[in-house]
Amino acid sequence: MRIASSVFAPHDGSSLLSQDTHTFKYGKVRDPVSHETIDEAIALVWRAPRSYTREDVVEISVHGGPVPLRRTLSAVMDSGARLAEPGEFTKRAFLAGRIDLAQAEAVCDLIAAKTQASGRLAVRQLEGRLSEAVSEARSALLNLLAGIEAGIDFPEHDVEEVTRSQIRAGLESALKHVSDLAGTAAVGRVYREGVRVALVGRPNVGKSSLLNALLGQERAIVTSVPGTTRDLIEETVSIEGIPFLLIDTAGLRHAQDEVEQMGVSRAERALREADVSVVILDAAAGLLEEDRDVLKSASGGRVVVAVNKTDLSREGSEAAAQQVRGFGLPVIRISALTREGLDDLRQALCDAVVSGAALESEPAVVTSARHEDCLLQAVGDIERAIDGLDSMVPYDLVSIDIRAALDRLGLITGETASDDLLDSIFSRFCIGK
Ligand code: GDP
Repeated sequence: MRIASSVFAPHDGSSLLSQDTHTFKYGKVRDPVSHETIDEAIALVWRAPRSYTREDVVEISVHGGPVPLRRTLSAVMDSGARLAEPGEFTKRAFLAGRIDLAQAEAVCDLIAAKTQASGRLAVRQLEGRLSEAVSEARSALLNLLAGIEAGIDFPEHDVEEVTRSQIRAGLESALKHVSDLAGTAAVGRVYREGVRVALVGRPNVGKSSLLNALLGQERAIVTSVPGTTRDLIEETVSIEGIPFLLIDTAGLRHAQDEVEQMGVSRAERALREADVSVVILDAAAGLLEEDRDVLKSASGGRVVVAVNKTDLSREGSEAAAQQVRGFGLPVIRISALTREGLDDLRQALCDAVVSGAALESEPAVVTSARHEDCLLQAVGDIERAIDGLDSMVPYDLVSIDIRAALDRLGLITGETASDDLLDSIFSRFCIGK
């Protein structure tokens, strides 16, 4: 506040020092030594504890050009301010207890969000949905721990049997809660990191055409001569908020004569590395031996079959679809040329990765690998505690596992996070956040 008032002179002759919280002043930014005017500006004032960091905060808005920005910055630094470290404002908000660690991380996710859906997930985490779910699990475990420790402290009270079965039931329910929460990470990951989709199929079935059709632009070179798309083509398209990275495996072929030996193994590799594969068939050509091989190798993973060129042969398309159903795979009839069936294909891709999980209905979704890791470790700890109870180990040993689970959960919301962990989390933030 002192630094701000030494560089900012309100137009009405007042001082920022006497300014109320949540108000702004129009005035001038001045060089603290020469008093030369640097810019006309607005100063916004927040008084502790009603600010982002719970401290006194002043924000000065100047005109956006590099000269007023740089000179204003020099003026405040000459008056004793320093540049914030990455994530420092959010870290201070966390240290002041205004938000917990999961919420602080959500700020970073929100800034980095690439799609509306991942932004929505970050906002929900910022609002505290994940924190609530974790806190519920922690307080259930704390209650159990209290019960156990009462048992340890008063062994002469013969509450052993009741306590043991009650604690077991409590642990079972905490286990379900924590592992359900960890289970949402798969959905969270899909929205955050996106999904790799391999477009596989024989030469000329229409992989590049389908890639273009899904992208809505001419990216891959479409050619009627097989094997001429040389580069591996990858493009991202957002479908219902999920980033799909489409990989045209046509570019994996090296040369015509290698196609026979390489074709299937290349396709297999692409299939292995992808989260989902779209196996493309040619309606006009029907199901060839090579197609069957690709389908067989694909059927272990998540696969959607697209019978392309339906516009050329409706009968061929239906026949091929019929044969594919024998493999137990979802099949969509499309035409990359007329774009028929593309909406169904998009829907099938979404279904393949989120298996109908409605994002809105999930109370909390785990979107960070760090949180997932903590939850899975807590699952392991709780399982060990249950095993311990079942094999009649002493209570104090069971309570060690419960404490470990509490600590792991506390790492998510920050109660048990070390300084090193905090430093590594906040260093990922952008400067000034
Ligand atoms: P790729 O080798 O699998 O990538 O196949 P391309 O996308 O290069 O397509 C091979 C040929 O099939 C090109 O001449 C395309 O115009 C044609 N083609 C692709 N999709 C369709 C379709 O849905 N209908 C028709 N009639 N032709 C298509």
